[in-house]
Amino acid sequence: MSAREGQDARPAKEPRAAARPAVCARFDDLGLDDPARTYRLGIMGGTFDPVHIGHLACAEQARDELGLDGVVFIPAGVPVYKKDQRVTPAAQRLEMCRLAVAGNPAFDVSSIEVDRAGDTYTVDTLRQLRAHYPGNVELWFITGADAVGSIVKWRDSAQIAHLAKLVAVTRPGWPISEETRHALRERSDFQVTFLEVTGMAVSSSDLRARVAAGRTIRYLTKGSVIRYIESHRLYRNDEREGEGA
Ligand code: ATP
Ligand code: MG
Repeated sequence: MSAREGQDARPAKEPRAAARPAVCARFDDLGLDDPARTYRLGIMGGTFDPVHIGHLACAEQARDELGLDGVVFIPAGVPVYKKDQRVTPAAQRLEMCRLAVAGNPAFDVSSIEVDRAGDTYTVDTLRQLRAHYPGNVELWFITGADAVGSIVKWRDSAQIAHLAKLVAVTRPGWPISEETRHALRERSDFQVTFLEVTGMAVSSSDLRARVAAGRTIRYLTKGSVIRYIESHRLYRNDEREGEGA
């Protein structure tokens, strides 16, 4: 089939053809179908070094509980709060996220943070998403209980509050203290939804330590991710000497 025929055969509604997606292939056109309807896009930010079942399950449960139209995983390019530790190259963390979300039509992965030069700040990401999507798409930023308290202290936190709603999911070992709840309540500009999710005491740090020690990580992340870790020899002691995690 010629390229011309290929174009003609495409359904009329197919979005932005072969152009590189601005955010991610699956959700770039969210909001356009029905301008009168409000759409909800979940955003799962993190280092994902590597992505694990805790990330996947809390994104899925947030989607289900909050009626999100989709969740986009956005691995940080240069995570500012992890500068003192060795982090796997962004392209590999991105690829592991891609492998992990494959098969869930409500999930996708975006490279916008990885593609952006310099340190990664959530506010820049939210600005970029807000500029891309029409006003009938709400942004719901999902974060674990360990991170939610610090968001009010992040760079341009007032902007973050303005751009997105927050979803604070429970995480074993990280109870949301009364102090954190108070700090969030004080900031009336933040709209926070506290969401109880199935408790999974799994962390990327633990997965990395397990691999380094030659222990199994089976069932702690997707099999495809485990195969990627093995074939690229990630997190092995010889690869990450000196890492504290
Ligand atoms: P690390 O141990 O390297 O910090 P991590 O497991 O905390 O890794 P991150 O990439 O730092 O993973 O986390 C991304 C987001 O996912 C954060 O908002 C974090 O709070 C949340 N998160 C991670 N693991 C869980 C879990 N088991 N349950 C709930 N939320 C989680
Ligand atoms: Mg973490």
